[in-house]
Amino acid sequence: MRIPVLITRIVGKTVPKNINVIGKMGSSIGAQLPITTATAVTRTNVNFLNRINNIPVHGVSVEEMPIFEMLKNSMYDLLATTKGKARLPKEIRFERVRGNGLIRKQGVACVTRENVLKINRDYFTHIDENIQTNLQDFIDIGLITRQPNGKYKIADFLRNSKSEIFETRLNEYNKNWPLDYKFKFHRTSMNYYANLTYQARHNPIVMLENIMKTGENQKILKECGLFKTRAEILQMPKEKQLQYLKDIFNKTQAQGKKILLPEDTVLITTPNYVFHHELGHVNHNLMLNNEQHAIFGGSEKLLEWQNNPKIQEVCSRISGYASSAPFEFVADTFSCLANGQKLHPDVMSLYQSLKGPMIF
Ligand SMILES: [Zn+2]
Repeated sequence: MRIPVLITRIVGKTVPKNINVIGKMGSSIGAQLPITTATAVTRTNVNFLNRINNIPVHGVSVEEMPIFEMLKNSMYDLLATTKGKARLPKEIRFERVRGNGLIRKQGVACVTRENVLKINRDYFTHIDENIQTNLQDFIDIGLITRQPNGKYKIADFLRNSKSEIFETRLNEYNKNWPLDYKFKFHRTSMNYYANLTYQARHNPIVMLENIMKTGENQKILKECGLFKTRAEILQMPKEKQLQYLKDIFNKTQAQGKKILLPEDTVLITTPNYVFHHELGHVNHNLMLNNEQHAIFGGSEKLLEWQNNPKIQEVCSRISGYASSAPFEFVADTFSCLANGQKLHPDVMSLYQSLKGPMIF
């Protein structure tokens, strides 16, 4: 698939640094690496590329090739980060991933217990609809507003360098973008904002705590007469905590001061994020025997997971998706570790209690 030059340039900003190495494989599946002409290629990365190229791939269409290239990039990146310790899928299939014949528009991919990675074609054919649905959700909860000039605006109290990228891309978004650019927008920028909104709404205390630990924030709040201790905040109901969170941004701004929202208060989504998540499932699968797998994936564990406030608080440090099930928490945390993100000790101990792979 040819990508217009202008878009390639823009996309290039967010593509990981090893794109050129992967790019040498060309666009046909399983093409051999031209070792004689690629002077920068070392024995290690030839080994990594061979491992990637040896995975059987089924069903990838021409339109899906840029997505397959992103997947190969993510696998290469993970092998490099883990010095080859990470395991890769046994097989990769591009197909419609349906349960009981029902379309699952939103799920990008899934991994079977046998470590077959299935890329869900239904997600990609419905990608514009998926983006619109998620945008409408943000609008419905008031965390994205439409300005009189027609531009979308994110909430002021959720503003940092990463959420501002989302705001910019959202205003640029257009249905004629190439598939991989839409995919990056949806699963990188938009996904990051979803993680922020989840934490603010469900566990504002976590966001407040991370704000207090950042830069001059605490000093500014004291100067503005807005400082509260953790104990004071904990005595407030969740809605009041959220209101306090909004107030500290608005009221300091009114006094000419700026509170910084740390980027890493939640999972930082990169273009590798989704596939690192899936590779997290692959590597987690290999850590578990069938009995452990059945327990972690069972309904009893799920009920505890979704109803235990402490577990839910820990999950909100990562993402809303992590809060849905133990396996999703492990896979999302794995992607944070693959990206070198520093994590709270509570996240790490929950991850290890579920036998999350420690290969970083
Ligand atoms: Zn998953």
